[in-house]
Amino acid sequence: MNDVKFSELCESHGETAAATLYLRFINAYATHVARLDPDAFDDPETPNAGDVIKALTTYSDEADEPFPQEVDVQLAHVLRSMARAWEGTSARLLRQAKGAPVDAGLGLVVQAMAIGVGRGECGSGVIQFASSDTGLPEIHGRYLRQSQGREALDRQVGSLYLTKDPRGPSFEETCPEAFAQLLEYSVLARKRLREEMQIEFTLESGKLAILDAVRIVRSSSAAVHIAVDLARDGIIPREDALMRVDPKALSELLHRQVAPNAPRTVLAKGIAASPGAATGKIVFTASDAQASAARGEAAVLVRRETGPEDIRGMHSVVAVLTERGGVTSHAAVIGRGLGLPCVVGASDMSIDGQKKSIIGRNQQILREGDVITVDGTHGEVLVGHVETVEAGLNTAVTTLLGWADELRDIGIRANADTPRDAQTAKNFMADGIGLCRSEHMFFEADRLTVMREMIFAENEEDRAASLERLLPMQRADFTELFQIMEGRPVCIRLLDPPLHEFLPADRSGLRDLAEALNLPLSRVTERVEQLSEYNPMLGLRGVRLGITVPEIYEMQARAIFEAAIDSGVDASPEIMIPLVSACREVELVKARIDAAAAAVRVERGRSFSYSLGVMVETPRAALRAGEIAAYSQFLSFGTNDLTQMAYGLSRDDAGRFMSSYVQQGVYEEDPFHRLDKDGVGELLTLGAERGRAARPEVVLSICGEHGGDPVAIAFIRQCGFTYVSCSPFRVPVARLAAAQCAITDKITG
Ligand code: PEP
Ligand code: MG
Repeated sequence: MNDVKFSELCESHGETAAATLYLRFINAYATHVARLDPDAFDDPETPNAGDVIKALTTYSDEADEPFPQEVDVQLAHVLRSMARAWEGTSARLLRQAKGAPVDAGLGLVVQAMAIGVGRGECGSGVIQFASSDTGLPEIHGRYLRQSQGREALDRQVGSLYLTKDPRGPSFEETCPEAFAQLLEYSVLARKRLREEMQIEFTLESGKLAILDAVRIVRSSSAAVHIAVDLARDGIIPREDALMRVDPKALSELLHRQVAPNAPRTVLAKGIAASPGAATGKIVFTASDAQASAARGEAAVLVRRETGPEDIRGMHSVVAVLTERGGVTSHAAVIGRGLGLPCVVGASDMSIDGQKKSIIGRNQQILREGDVITVDGTHGEVLVGHVETVEAGLNTAVTTLLGWADELRDIGIRANADTPRDAQTAKNFMADGIGLCRSEHMFFEADRLTVMREMIFAENEEDRAASLERLLPMQRADFTELFQIMEGRPVCIRLLDPPLHEFLPADRSGLRDLAEALNLPLSRVTERVEQLSEYNPMLGLRGVRLGITVPEIYEMQARAIFEAAIDSGVDASPEIMIPLVSACREVELVKARIDAAAAAVRVERGRSFSYSLGVMVETPRAALRAGEIAAYSQFLSFGTNDLTQMAYGLSRDDAGRFMSSYVQQGVYEEDPFHRLDKDGVGELLTLGAERGRAARPEVVLSICGEHGGDPVAIAFIRQCGFTYVSCSPFRVPVARLAAAQCAITDKITG
């Protein structure tokens, strides 16, 4: 745009339209290219040539040079400024959040303009045919006369509804022919572009032009709906629909939500930036957030707004709340990326950084350490702990996952320790339980005392008496688990942690224990000290307990077999021995478990089947998988401990320096989050090959935290494993990821 073009446009389109176009260009150029203060430039309602002269004068005053009249100069500067923005912090953070490479390229398109201002029916609008929130078919958008670009959406005032609407005039009624044509183009766009598009259009003297069509912005839930609808309408195949949904996005739908009827005391309202709900103590700084995480306390990071220096703090909290910001602000983008419930722009509260307090909408004051609940789905901050409910799957997700199940060729089980976990696993249609950490059942208050009595038993008789009391409790736990799983496989791991984990660590706990067991404090302290180890993770735990205190495993095996009978369902128990490093361990434990099974069969006069396997989580077990497989019907790789021992890296302490390691590129990623395909992966491959060579029908699986990670799923599927087991909430993600692996294989042959 320059003075010459302005004169031409005055002739063809009239002075107002020409001045609108020229002013718009001067303003945009001044702000984005010359980086001048936008407030220095006016935005008159009906501009004229005088306003243009004023803007040009302001430009030369502010920039110390005249507004460039050469089109090639303008173009070069515009392109350069776009490229600069691409390198800016916001663009970089967005790329990072979207998982795009840091050095991703930028494409710029230069094209002729369809002008929405001028004589006759001129204007512009934006239309989309599905809701960005839900993905359900709904027409959204506006049309505004004498406007351009997305003004119809931005300005609202004076804009027309697109379809007939009781609230006011509509584009459909005012320009019926153009509207009909717009619908035609839109149907065509959806079909040909095979996507749900948002379309920008203009009318120039009544003539419709389609300017642009972009994928509509969509929530995770809408993404699933849209993909499923496109497949149902025959526009894309089901495989395509499955490939379009990011497993990570699916996990967003699976977050806890505030219970619908829970009482809510609203502290502040803001923008619902990232879904889900979480409760935690207020912290005001990223370092306090990290300190809370180190203490194992759930915290909510409350900031005026967040920046890159807060990212590590955000990794440590359960939710984020900011006073400022919008849906694309730093906190919102990062919060969504991390799957953290997040409310931003809660401007009806104020933060007092000095006093470390928040003043809420009703002048209620909350201080550091007070508990709040962030409802990121509804954009509300609630006082105190508020009841939440498990996430539920909507019908589109269920349909999509049904398609995934038809295509996937690897089993997905859940790690479920409690009946509640098992129920969630079943709701998410897990194929079974791949890991039930049986010790979790001992941490319930009533069992803990009996467990401690067992640990303090002076002789075999006393120990047997305690185990006798634990037996019915374990049996009841397992019975419930079998009943919930209704005949799906349930793999129960025998006791794994070192016994000292069941004992108190501090003085008051020791005193309480002495009282509960009716023992002198000195005796209790002495026993606790006896059990303490320099390196408990490599000490007396797992199968080593099974060998040295065999009665515990015998009791557990008996509880499992009796529960299988009592459950009344066709239970198929699988018993897993943890932390094996030598074949003889398996041989010994197997003999005792088989004996327990035989005893229960005789006592109950009932037959039942079970399988016995080994958890491969020490490097030696992976290397000796061949001989171990001779005694094991299945081998389940515990990649948490396997990673710990392969790297010689403590699971509990690695967090302290992991970020520095990742930052400096020592590790590409935290190996406890992302399976190390090279090292740990080689142990998996070796173990699988050796196990299979010795026993071709051996069932192979993984059950560490990596089980739900799409990268790990792809890897172990290639190694020919039978199933993965992951936390219940990751089951849907894993089902989708497994289907995507099968589809990718089909495409790439
Ligand atoms: C493992 O080590 O991978 C595992 C699943 O067991 P845990 O996390 O209980 O040690
Ligand atoms: Mg383990």
